[in-house]
Amino acid sequence: MITTVSRIATMGVLLMFVVAGAVQCAPAGGGGPSQRKDAASSGAMRTPPPDAVILFDGKDLSKWQRPDGQPAAWTVADGVMTVSRGNIVTKETFGDAWIHVEFMEPDMPNARGQEKGNSGVYVQARYEIQVLDSYGIKVPGRGDCGAIYGQYAPLVNANKPPLQWQTFDIIFRAPRVDASGKVLEQGRMTVLQNDMVIHNNVELLGPTAGGDPNVAAPGPLLLQDHGHALKYRNVWLVHLPLKGSDAY
Ligand code: MG
Repeated sequence: MITTVSRIATMGVLLMFVVAGAVQCAPAGGGGPSQRKDAASSGAMRTPPPDAVILFDGKDLSKWQRPDGQPAAWTVADGVMTVSRGNIVTKETFGDAWIHVEFMEPDMPNARGQEKGNSGVYVQARYEIQVLDSYGIKVPGRGDCGAIYGQYAPLVNANKPPLQWQTFDIIFRAPRVDASGKVLEQGRMTVLQNDMVIHNNVELLGPTAGGDPNVAAPGPLLLQDHGHALKYRNVWLVHLPLKGSDAY
């Protein structure tokens, strides 16, 4: 149940993100996005809003499992979970949602392209937001960090160097379907990486490669094991109502 007060609180925090993103997207001494100073560079964890569902608070994987229902087996230490032994999904499923994930790239200086710190955040286990070490790439593509994999490149390169904490804030609008499951409106996504807008309400073209094709059903959050030692912390989501009141 989402109260009016908490909804207002949620909107307030969202607005702060948008304002923060807009400020950081303004030219700063002529530098490109990757050269701009980032308000999140302190590495402080973002405090979840009051109505957030906490998916990982640093203690254990009790909210997670493997896609086949077996217990999740990632390593948990020092408030952080590290990729190992397969993909994991949340037991919580969702439709429209604001999802917050913090991640840290390993330092792999000799690796290149898709072999450099690859993982992924799959919204509803269908739509992958790529996780990769794309720091310093001038024009990131549809396979780089922050891309909606294969569909949309991030608007700017918002990446930090490896070994620093980074954030994704994903505002997801699920596809609208009729009673027979036919898609009436495609899903949409707005994504902020490190408080910079990297996707501005884009229309999804369907699930990304390997994503669950049944788009009508709620789905879990999936974190990908691509064989690289990514770290994650402070994962939460806020369920969003499908629409506001009709009252004026
Ligand atoms: Mg990936």
